[in-house]
Amino acid sequence: MCAEVAHTVLLTTKCSAQCKHCPFSSPDLEKLFLAPQTIQEIMHQTAAKLTVLSGGEPFEHPQITEILTEMAKQPHPFRIATGGFVDLSPWIEKLLTLSLASGALDGVSMGTDVLSSRVDHSQWVQIWKENIRLLSKFQIPYSLTLTLGGNLDFIWLNLWKWTDSFDSMPEFIYLRYSRGDLLEDWIHKLQNTFGEIPIVPDEFSS
Ligand code: SF4
Repeated sequence: MCAEVAHTVLLTTKCSAQCKHCPFSSPDLEKLFLAPQTIQEIMHQTAAKLTVLSGGEPFEHPQITEILTEMAKQPHPFRIATGGFVDLSPWIEKLLTLSLASGALDGVSMGTDVLSSRVDHSQWVQIWKENIRLLSKFQIPYSLTLTLGGNLDFIWLNLWKWTDSFDSMPEFIYLRYSRGDLLEDWIHKLQNTFGEIPIVPDEFSS
């Protein structure tokens, strides 16, 4: 069996953010939700040391609270990858418990597509910022995921002085890029905002 480092489990195909570039925003895509029992079975079968719960948007799974509760009993830790546009306040206490008390939660991976110039997502920006503020305040580990492409811009990189807006820095930035993206420029921009936190570049084929 392949000794994967991380294993991604797609909890749902539903995501309401409607990023135009994203396959999960297609109105033709059937909205599917993985049953909590199936997730448990997958967790017990994988040889990976870390599971990433992803989507779609995991926090739009109607049984996400039950799923998170069950994750505390799993044999290895997990991360949860969210687009960040759903208000996380109803789950902050649970995320905190999973992170501190049980060590089950390795961290929250915050997507940034809803902050990009790909589409007008202004309605999500305040929610996204408030989610980061909550994660910071409760010292729940989080990372940022940026997916580059085309003439993409992340206006927020120029607008916010991160340390003035939030109490903590992301643990790392996962930077997805494709050939042709100006990777060095982006790393420089990110270092201007975040300083020397680790940046993990990952090339994908576009
Ligand atoms: S938030 Fe993420 S999953 Fe949802 S539509 Fe946007 S890019 Fe796709």
